[in-house]
Amino acid sequence: MVQDNYISFEIGKTKHIALVAHDGKKKELVEWCNKNKEILSRHFLCGTGTTAKLISEKTGLPVKGYNSGPLGGDQQIGAKIVEGQIDFMVFLWDPLEAQPHDPDVKALLRIAVVYDIPVANNLATADFMLHSTYMDEVYDRQVENYNKIIAKRVDTMK
Ligand code: PGA
Repeated sequence: MVQDNYISFEIGKTKHIALVAHDGKKKELVEWCNKNKEILSRHFLCGTGTTAKLISEKTGLPVKGYNSGPLGGDQQIGAKIVEGQIDFMVFLWDPLEAQPHDPDVKALLRIAVVYDIPVANNLATADFMLHSTYMDEVYDRQVENYNKIIAKRVDTMK
């Protein structure tokens, strides 16, 4: 890897976790949060409006709520990933149900890849992630060097 093509961002020991679930998957996510309450309580939690409220009501965990997904919540979470304020995500999207905000869902999944944050889209992955040794360590994620990319693009457009 050409070092200067990437910038490292540290995921601290305390993770900033986004929790999102489509309607058909909300029950699963609430149960998963309940089962893993002890681990999750050591991290900062946030989520789209309905998901966040359900989890905090059913588990007692503090979860900062953004707007509801179809009303822009996915985009808010995407923006926080870009700003470096979210560095871990469990997003249980429903493969059996069409969503009115499908473009936002795609955008959120894409930006999570661009910013190299761990993302679980099903319970098995969420379990593997939460029980990884990296949960108790810092981790350097690698993001495309956007300063270099912008400078290069500006150069070609002069
Ligand atoms: P919700 O949004 O938590 O407000 O239901 C989730 C989503 O559909 O992205």
